[in-house]
Amino acid sequence: MTEFLIVFAISYVIHAMGITIGYHRLLSHRSFCCPKWVEYFWVFMGYLAFEGSPIWWATIHRAHHRHVDTPLDPHSPRESLYNAHFGWLTAKTYAPHVNPAIQSKDLVSDPLYRFLEQDGVFWRAHTMGFAVALGFRALLWAFFGWQVALASLLAGLAVLQIPLMLNVVCHIPKLGYKNFRSEDDSVNVWWVGLLAMGEGWHNNHHVFPGSARSGIKPLEFDFSWHVIRLMRKLGWAYRVNDPSEAQLRAKMLASGINTSGRKSKALASIPERPVLSAGTMAQSTRMQRPTSAAGKR
Ligand SMILES: [Zn+2]
Ligand SMILES: [Zn+2]
Repeated sequence: MTEFLIVFAISYVIHAMGITIGYHRLLSHRSFCCPKWVEYFWVFMGYLAFEGSPIWWATIHRAHHRHVDTPLDPHSPRESLYNAHFGWLTAKTYAPHVNPAIQSKDLVSDPLYRFLEQDGVFWRAHTMGFAVALGFRALLWAFFGWQVALASLLAGLAVLQIPLMLNVVCHIPKLGYKNFRSEDDSVNVWWVGLLAMGEGWHNNHHVFPGSARSGIKPLEFDFSWHVIRLMRKLGWAYRVNDPSEAQLRAKMLASGINTSGRKSKALASIPERPVLSAGTMAQSTRMQRPTSAAGKR
């Protein structure tokens, strides 16, 4: 039983980060750069958690940011709770306004991702994803026994729930709070932040979509961000985007409130000092470039 629990916990964290670091912050938002082997490692960890074609995932997610909480958003709870949670997965093809050849050119140019995309035929791409994920557990069974295989499989299926749940919970205003005023319904939800390795700080993310860091306030623990920082130290990540202190202060001042109605409590967690050093200026500029194209997605 101990072995089962340890394998489950480790698998959960690694596959969850396959989504948060690989599919989301790297592929969808290009919030940092890394060697190709690092990219493939994280994306493969997400793929094994039944996440499907990376091109499909990232293209739908970019459409979510571009049309957030409007009728063109692929999964907004404003339109339908069922569709936001699961219904959007049953689509047979891309909506007319969603086109990977235009919106995900950077991913379509990768032959591996193109292969996993299966020419945009969803049922084929999804079937292949499930087959590979189940085949991986079959290998684990053959080499390490059924307990390891089952723990890994259950962790993968648990991780599959993360983005599905997040799409709903983090876009229902009464379930969380905002650090920043935004036109959409995105909110920070603490328990999603913990379960989803930092992705639950969703209001922060919608305001700074090109940032590799989602947790802003001291208690907004963002495990994925700490792993990205570690990768940067090891030389496995570079050009890591995160909002400068000046950018944070500007956004918070522009918002002026949080949803609890108290005057800018979030701002109080940011040290009171003017920062426009050359380094910060450079970073600010970088955050607004289109590689921060991410920023527009
Ligand atoms: Zn969102
Ligand atoms: Zn995003």
